[in-house]
Amino acid sequence: MTDTIDLAMPRVPGVRGRLKDTPVPGRKRVLLASPRGYCAGVDRAVVAVEKALERYGSPVYVRKQIVHNIHVVSTLEKRGAIFVDDVDQVPEGAHVVFSAHGVSPAVVQAASDRGLRAIDATCPLVTKVHREAVRFARDDYEILLIGHAGHEEVEGTAGEAPEHVTLVNGPDDVDSIQVRDPERVVWLSQTTLSVDETMETVRRLRERFPKLADPPSDDICYATQNRQVAIKKVAQDADLVLVVGSANSSNSVRLVEVALENGARAAYRVDYASEVRQEWLDGVATVGVTSGASVPEILVQELLDDLADAGYSDVDVVKTAEEDLMFSLPKELRRDDSGSQDARALGGRAR
Ligand code: SF4
Repeated sequence: MTDTIDLAMPRVPGVRGRLKDTPVPGRKRVLLASPRGYCAGVDRAVVAVEKALERYGSPVYVRKQIVHNIHVVSTLEKRGAIFVDDVDQVPEGAHVVFSAHGVSPAVVQAASDRGLRAIDATCPLVTKVHREAVRFARDDYEILLIGHAGHEEVEGTAGEAPEHVTLVNGPDDVDSIQVRDPERVVWLSQTTLSVDETMETVRRLRERFPKLADPPSDDICYATQNRQVAIKKVAQDADLVLVVGSANSSNSVRLVEVALENGARAAYRVDYASEVRQEWLDGVATVGVTSGASVPEILVQELLDDLADAGYSDVDVVKTAEEDLMFSLPKELRRDDSGSQDARALGGRAR
């Protein structure tokens, strides 16, 4: 998937000319990370809500934020989606979409008990981790799940095998972990963590539990990894890095941390270009720009417009990977879908 496909989201009416073009030592420029922005799982989840609205009419209920981005959520709300915290807030018999972060079997059961018509927009790469949890639990492993307490994805994965999962909230948690049988432990992880920090957590876990088993493949997804690799390269040459993304977006927050750990003198996360402060640009010649996996490209374009007003009109793309992964729509939406123009009609993305 390219990084400029998701322009279907509306522009934010901004205030152009807010940032001033002040002199700095050297040539002003932007280093624009690529890949950035929408991943295949986010694209599929957003299109699933759009498609459900088109097919069933409004309202369509969505459990939790469909993806962790304030602009996406508010745009879908305007189109008729209603976001709820749990399925007991959805009227019986209504349609409900499960977010890209996934749900536990208990939530699926609760929706079924209410007679809800569920559309599961869980990212297939999250589902893969759920399956691993089920399999390792069946084989009587204790699963050390590296992730952030309270994150919806972690709750969903842990809910697959609650008796077998222990949460590890990063390297500093390792010393206090208690396990039943140190000979039978495996680690899994949330998909949107810092790769480097997760490997450090695994290293420390293995020091404590030498028999620690590995997952069959990376749990940190391709999109998270690719965006971190790109921002690492950008950060080496950037005085300032700006990450577009929401505060509850794990992978966006990680991009700020990765930028700071890899050479950026300063790094900030913003939801919108209007949040950039003039003083952040003081003495800054090179601004690195990227966006989290749940961020529509239009928000990055608006940031670039504002930066151009401030004299940063030269944009060099720093490309570290090509992405062309696409996921098919949730099966509940593929059913009865005789025409194949569905997703394309809604923004030309998931298929
Ligand atoms: S960030 Fe990764 S796991 Fe999450 S929705 Fe995107 S592709 Fe899926």
